Amino acid sequence: MLNIVLFGPPGAGKGTQSSKIIDKYSLIHISTGDLFRKHMNENTVLGQSAKRYIDAGNLVPDDVVIGMVEDKIRENLDANGFIFDGFPRTVNQADALDIMLKTHGLSISGTIALEVPEENLKNRIRERAKTSGRADDQDDKKINNRIAIYNNETAPVAEYYKKQDKFAAVNGVGSIDSVFESIAEKISSF
Ligand code: ADP
Repeated sequence: MLNIVLFGPPGAGKGTQSSKIIDKYSLIHISTGDLFRKHMNENTVLGQSAKRYIDAGNLVPDDVVIGMVEDKIRENLDANGFIFDGFPRTVNQADALDIMLKTHGLSISGTIALEVPEENLKNRIRERAKTSGRADDQDDKKINNRIAIYNNETAPVAEYYKKQDKFAAVNGVGSIDSVFESIAEKISSF
């Protein structure tokens, strides 16, 4: 199985690149942000409990996220592989992911980090806010909070994968196709 973590700050283009990666490699897309938004749209119990965290731009508690990802993995054990998008977002989640993959005889093949300067991120999110309908895209305070949480809690996840020698960085500024080309090149080395 090819199991990839797509890593990067909010607005880095993880969702856009994920859809190109799943097309090329036939992987199952596990986007925790998309899964939460689906739960919120369907007004499930999980959606209701996650909403207050998400709308404020805070992280949903680890145990909730980990349980949701575990269900998705278990449902798709016959897949070619998985792309994890927006997960793991804490070192604790990264540990939990390694453990759950191991119980199925699986492991992460590699991590791709999309690098985008903070000013570009903010501009992209402000642009997306016009059409996304996402409460967490709507004001600068929430956007800044998400970027701060990324820097404090998510950035250390990069070290976690560097230590395992499973980390590759890609410049996330450029056309969608040129960024994808750089990603595909890294994936071919996993
Ligand atoms: P973005 O990358 O633009 O921030 P996502 O769709 O990945 O958007 O995530 C939206 C929100 O969903 C996050 O701000 C957070 O509240 C919640 N979320 C998504 N993934 C996780 C996760 N792995 N751990 C905790 N919260 C998460």
